[in-house]
Amino acid sequence: FSLPVSLLVAFLCAYLFKLLKRSERSLKQRLKRAIRQRELIAFYQPIMDAATGRIVGAEALVRWLRPNGEVISPARFIDELERTALINPLTIQMLEQIPEDLKSIFASDGGFRCSLNLVPEQVEQEDFCRHVELLAASGFPTQQIAVEITERLPLRNLEVANQHLERLKALGVMIELDDAGTGYGGASYLQELNIDILKIDKLFVDTLVLSPDNTPVLDAYIQMAKTLEMEVIAEGVEKQKQSLALLARGVHLHQGYYFSKPLPAEEFVRFWLSKQN
Ligand code: C2E
Ligand code: MG
Ligand code: MG
Ligand code: MG
Repeated sequence: FSLPVSLLVAFLCAYLFKLLKRSERSLKQRLKRAIRQRELIAFYQPIMDAATGRIVGAEALVRWLRPNGEVISPARFIDELERTALINPLTIQMLEQIPEDLKSIFASDGGFRCSLNLVPEQVEQEDFCRHVELLAASGFPTQQIAVEITERLPLRNLEVANQHLERLKALGVMIELDDAGTGYGGASYLQELNIDILKIDKLFVDTLVLSPDNTPVLDAYIQMAKTLEMEVIAEGVEKQKQSLALLARGVHLHQGYYFSKPLPAEEFVRFWLSKQN
């Protein structure tokens, strides 16, 4: 390249980099503001006992509800929350919202549980578990809460994580391994962490459609959970066929679009009511 062309290219690169930086910064600022303004709220997806048709719990999933009514999915901003420490205030807000949103359900079904997603860092740091201990001391229904730890991101210090999980368990919080089989943990998490519930990822539930009579990895996970005396929740159940095939394999807790998408709190409570006799 001639000198002027090289200069032009260098200039353009610097400019693009600056633009990129600015848009990153502004997403962080916008998210910070959104948390403060309570625009990040929980939707709830039912977890069914497919054997009885009863709703036994829910998963709280964050949504960004813009003032113009637009609903933004976490795929567009969860990474940014995780990268910045903004995931911490968001998680606490979500946690505290759960018993308010689901007050009527918690009151009439003491066995109903709602789960909340954590990132591994929140399990490695003490803040989250200390916060839950404080809430518990003032009557927060920790025995109706579960936390989901994803395998999608690495947990570095299993020993410290375990100490914090034990403190949560002492309050009645259940521990779930999310996205099981898709990420970093593999069998080591199952061996090292005191997990109560294995959430089998949609990836494996999908195999019930692709090759219904040949699902060795799914079957192995189900067997492993049984051996380890863990409950199983199957994620991403979209078709009746999958639900039936899971029941035939002894897995009765199902979550997925076949039953319902994640719903705004009020709609979820109405859905729950409609399933009561
Ligand atoms: P996840 O925890 O594995 O949640 C399950 C995701 O699968 C949800 O996506 C849910 O809407 C979707 N899903 C459920 N059933 C079906 C189905 O039958 N078919 C299909 N195609 N999808 C189904 P969502 O709500 O977009 O959340 C995506 C991910 O974002 C979550 O995956 C979780 O890792 C993360 N996330 C969501 N809310 C929070 C949060 O409050 N905190 C943290 N740390 N992460 C969150
Ligand atoms: Mg989850
Ligand atoms: Mg999941
Ligand atoms: Mg998943």
